[in-house]
Amino acid sequence: MMNYSLRSGFLGMTFPAAVTLLCGSLLWTGCGQAEAPRQHPHVVLLVVDTLRQDRLNPYRDPGRMVTPNLQDLVSQEGAVALPGLLAASSWTKPSMATIWTGQTPAQHGVMRLQGAHARLQTEQTLPVSFAAAGYRTGGVMSNFLLTRRMGAGFERGFQFWDDAPGRHPNPHRGTTAQEVTSSGLSWLKQQGAHQDMPPVFLMLHYFDPHASFEDQVDVDFSVPDYDGWVTPGASTDLLREYQAKVTAEDQAALLGWYDEEIWAVDRAIGQVVETLKAQGMWEDTILMITADHGEELGERQHIGHTQTLMSELVDVPLVVHIPEAYQSRWNLPEANGQGGYAMTQLMPALLAVSGVPMPPQCRLEAPEILQAEVDFEPVRKEHVEKFVRQRAVRAHGLQLTWDLRGEQMWLHDLTQDPQMMQALPADHPGWSKMRPLLDQVQFWEAP
Ligand SMILES: [Zn+2]
Repeated sequence: MMNYSLRSGFLGMTFPAAVTLLCGSLLWTGCGQAEAPRQHPHVVLLVVDTLRQDRLNPYRDPGRMVTPNLQDLVSQEGAVALPGLLAASSWTKPSMATIWTGQTPAQHGVMRLQGAHARLQTEQTLPVSFAAAGYRTGGVMSNFLLTRRMGAGFERGFQFWDDAPGRHPNPHRGTTAQEVTSSGLSWLKQQGAHQDMPPVFLMLHYFDPHASFEDQVDVDFSVPDYDGWVTPGASTDLLREYQAKVTAEDQAALLGWYDEEIWAVDRAIGQVVETLKAQGMWEDTILMITADHGEELGERQHIGHTQTLMSELVDVPLVVHIPEAYQSRWNLPEANGQGGYAMTQLMPALLAVSGVPMPPQCRLEAPEILQAEVDFEPVRKEHVEKFVRQRAVRAHGLQLTWDLRGEQMWLHDLTQDPQMMQALPADHPGWSKMRPLLDQVQFWEAP
């Protein structure tokens, strides 16, 4: 009984929950003794490509239950859905490089599809830091841009690296959450969870909510009687052909297929949590779930991403589970006075809570101003209309967005209009507060 009271007091849990957990721990300690928390917890990082925050039930009611497992997760002790994470950019490479280095795009310079600015410049990445601290590191990558053969360096530091899901002949259609989860969890189970074993850092990258949007057979969010051009499996190019004339019905159909893909990832999240619990690892595991950027589904006559820095693309989820034993080390500083978080802070926060030293470029400190930027240059010159150069700053509950190519600026009030659908007028007092901030923040300059 002493073990029960120690363990339940330590975890701050109710008695039945503590008993369940203790029974789980008996399987892996082998001796039945309550154990002190690990010095270095396990870390599981799930990054979902193209996942906007507002379709997830813990954030906003999308009118149906799209993410039952996420909803269940945030009701558990030590888990929370944090609002206000601003993506560093509106496409994969710059944002993933920020998560991997703790740097802004101006600092890491990973802004292009190919060439020197398509590769990580620093060796001091998140997985390298965990590996250097003695972690066993495993990663499964489903985005073709981040596979080893693309030479960007995202695989550095991983002892186990599986990017087969990102190497399907048609990368926009072949990848499934099931494939990613199965690969990652098999590796995880091989590691064992005994206290004497080194801790684990596992990263799983999911691609499902990225177009094409596939029909999931186990769930149905389709619009009854809809017979328009929105069909499951339609390519991004095809969807973009119609983006200027999206009707409310088309948008409902798009959201239906998009939500089905989110639902598939949510099921995978449930499997990850279940496995961590079955392995007796849950109370020693920092779990972080986030996204690189969101997706536009017709809100501004756009479908896809890279095209703006509006809410659909830059407001991304951040769900964390921090077990009680590690909560005193958990610190994710809010941007000053704004209630928002910068993507640059994810790496230092993960390293700090894990007791792992930070490389010199990483700093755990609240940014004064939140920033996002996109400088997307298409590889094929005929796609010149997809060349986008925009910058955004967030402060005082406002976002100022600057389109450098279109020579336009918009100001939005995030407190009154979080979806950023109504730009503020030219005489709004917020302009004089926000315009100087564009000069205070360093943005990437195209060479
Ligand atoms: Zn992406």
